[in-house]
Amino acid sequence: MSTDRALAPDLILTNALVYAADAARSRHEAVAVGGGRVVAVGSAAEVEALAGAGTEVVDLCGRLVLPGFIDAHMHASAAVEELYDVSLAACRSVADCVAAVARYAGEHPELPAVRGYGWSDTYMPRLGPAAADLDAVVPDRPVILFDDSYHSAWLNSAGLRRAGIGAATPDPGNGVIERLPDGNPAGTLREGPSALAERAFPPYTLEQAREGILHFQRTVAAPYGLTTVQDANPRPGRDAALEAFEVLQAAGELTARYCLSLWIMEDQPLDEQIAAAVDERARHTGPLVRAAWAKLFADGVIEGHTAVLKEPYADAPEMCGDPVWSGDGLLRASVAAAKAGFRLHYHAIGDAATALCLDAIEAAAAATGGAVERPLITHLQVVDLDDLPRFASLGAVAAVQPNWFLKEELYRTRQVPYLGEERAEREYPMRSLFDHGILVAGASDYPVPPAPDPLIGIQRGVLRRDPTDASEPEPLWPEEAVPVEWMLDAYTINAARALGLEGEVGSLEPGKVADLVVVSRDLLSISPEEITTAAVELTLFGGRPVYAAGPFAGLAGD
Ligand SMILES: [Zn+2]
Repeated sequence: MSTDRALAPDLILTNALVYAADAARSRHEAVAVGGGRVVAVGSAAEVEALAGAGTEVVDLCGRLVLPGFIDAHMHASAAVEELYDVSLAACRSVADCVAAVARYAGEHPELPAVRGYGWSDTYMPRLGPAAADLDAVVPDRPVILFDDSYHSAWLNSAGLRRAGIGAATPDPGNGVIERLPDGNPAGTLREGPSALAERAFPPYTLEQAREGILHFQRTVAAPYGLTTVQDANPRPGRDAALEAFEVLQAAGELTARYCLSLWIMEDQPLDEQIAAAVDERARHTGPLVRAAWAKLFADGVIEGHTAVLKEPYADAPEMCGDPVWSGDGLLRASVAAAKAGFRLHYHAIGDAATALCLDAIEAAAAATGGAVERPLITHLQVVDLDDLPRFASLGAVAAVQPNWFLKEELYRTRQVPYLGEERAEREYPMRSLFDHGILVAGASDYPVPPAPDPLIGIQRGVLRRDPTDASEPEPLWPEEAVPVEWMLDAYTINAARALGLEGEVGSLEPGKVADLVVVSRDLLSISPEEITTAAVELTLFGGRPVYAAGPFAGLAGD
């Protein structure tokens, strides 16, 4: 047994399988929690012997206890859109989307502008949807609708005018303005121009942002057992979520720890952005909210032809995709952010984008005398395995989304046509990352998948297919599958290390914060096909139940 005897237990969870996610991957029968910390892990007899008069002892009947799940790359504050924007997630065609927007705009005459999300490039590969379709139903108010990757936006004509994008707007270097034959914008903007257009729309208010975070905690974080998450991309001076996190922290209303990655954009003055980020960081002194990261995009997405590839697109042999930053922009931004003391957080989808990130990390390390700590690269969809030795030697962290390790409909419609069969079959390496000694952290990229359940990620990391898919596709690159323990580590201790929080969370060891989850079935002994039949039944955040279901419902006292 290991204990921290300075703390008397308030709660003992016993007759369990406790996977500690410590260096030894040790397993125990019981865990004691007191003062918001882990007091002890050990055998049932050892831990139960610590019980005092005020200790609640709960028999878990063989359930699994894990450290609270950690998601190393997602967009927590984006949950606000579910409350205040129109969802197109259920739409299957442009006509569906137009009907949904018409209905929503009709129901909300008070809104000066209409925002929405969730259309898909699968309706119309190569070119996005048209402004004219939206003009027919909302002619007077600006409309902006993000796609399900959030890298493309579909606007009506009033929206394009609001964004100042017209026939005379030059083609930007950081994305695409799709055009009609007469040169007028067609309605779909990709990458940089979509972000620029969004900035012309009213931001969410502080109250909306606060409601959005509470909604995220209630519907996503607590029920999925997520106790630490990233919020990638909030923008100082634009996103009220930055202030909302502090308002909620002061009110004691946070039920997760938040790591904020401040977006440094390619189309805004670098010095001003770094200065604003430094000011913003100073407003977040913890303990539950930290803004230690700078977020930089190296490229876009495959289905927008904006991911940067080493070899051309299969359906567009003239294109490899353009980097988001022109020239040595990514390098200079990385050096500036690192010099200002930020941790670096990169979006890279294509293999050439990963290589650009490694160049930038190398430059930032050189410029700071090696003071670049655990730079994080997320997505890693197409990766050149020859880049992995350099990835490892730079100490870069891989934040992967096993959610996508599948050969399902999106693979067939949005990957094979763009990448070709051979390259698509070697998407999302995983075991190779581990084998090179790279720290691999689990992540979801929520809200891209609206249900960022770590149990789904764990299962797909092990199987690389979805056993509930009736069409039973083959696994995606089965040689890259990893054991379940590796996946449990990826969503706990590895993600904690990726975020620099391993001293506080990520494993169940005496003295650490008591962020933990009880899972209904023992993931280590059931077949991987059954992992998603298990569910989180209890989430403790700092020792406090923030979600309790089934037999534990009584524990969520307040
Ligand atoms: Zn993301």
